[in-house]
Amino acid sequence: MAKILAITNQKGGVGKTTTSVNLAASLAAAQRAVLLIDLDPQGNATTGSGVDKSQLSQTVYDVLLEQASLAEVRITTASHYDLIPANRELAGAEVELVGMPQREKHLKKALLEIEAEYDFVLIDCPPALNLLTINGLCAAHAVLIPMQCEYYALEGLSDLVQTIKRVRENLNPDIEIEGLLRTMFDPRNALSQQVSSQLQHHFGAKVYNTIIPRNIRLAEAPSYGTPVLKHDRTSKGAQAYLALADEMLERTAP
Ligand code: ATP
Ligand code: MG
Repeated sequence: MAKILAITNQKGGVGKTTTSVNLAASLAAAQRAVLLIDLDPQGNATTGSGVDKSQLSQTVYDVLLEQASLAEVRITTASHYDLIPANRELAGAEVELVGMPQREKHLKKALLEIEAEYDFVLIDCPPALNLLTINGLCAAHAVLIPMQCEYYALEGLSDLVQTIKRVRENLNPDIEIEGLLRTMFDPRNALSQQVSSQLQHHFGAKVYNTIIPRNIRLAEAPSYGTPVLKHDRTSKGAQAYLALADEMLERTAP
């Protein structure tokens, strides 16, 4: 059975897309069948996977509006994972979904048809607690929360935890927190160390041991349209995401 993970944090720029793309590539490098769903109108996971978002005939938008199946829309990337692409058109989906029945569960319903083909489905959510994110949370078994160890990080986290709780009560009783991932980490920064220990104090084993360092190669790779693994396999960033994939595989091993 596929493990379906929503990669989410309503705070912008914390490393959701970088994590989605590079974890997808790292799990694929470990011979796992991976589907990455871009659920953000910014389409960054699409570009970062080497797909031109202006040249798409169908996207996740068509899937959410029940005009196409995921199987029709998916693209196999050069890094051996499949991608459901997105572009700006997706911004309209929210308004168009509002009048539709079961509007929170369109992605979940679409996934039922193909999830058995995958070991992992990763959903890159937009930086908002909107209907797109709710579709991601309804489709997922668990959430992976990337976060920067900054002053306001813990505050934002409590909002997210509340949202997950509400989703569990009303829409998806099985959803849980898979893990919290410290991203763009700078060990020389005393505040980062402090926030990091608070995080471990509050969330214990939910915090991944793997820490993603701030690494220029990770920031560069999208401009080459590739995960960092193909851009510079030896970089600290690439090694960190490979380690994260290993840690996840160990955690989910029977
Ligand atoms: P949004 O909320 O807009 O969707 P996001 O949470 O998906 O943003 P990313 O797009 O992954 O965040 O990252 C934000 C910026 O930080 C990008 O320019 C990205 O290249 C850069 N970045 C992400 N992780 C790292 C890292 N570990 N080291 C250096 N730069 C990073
Ligand atoms: Mg993003």
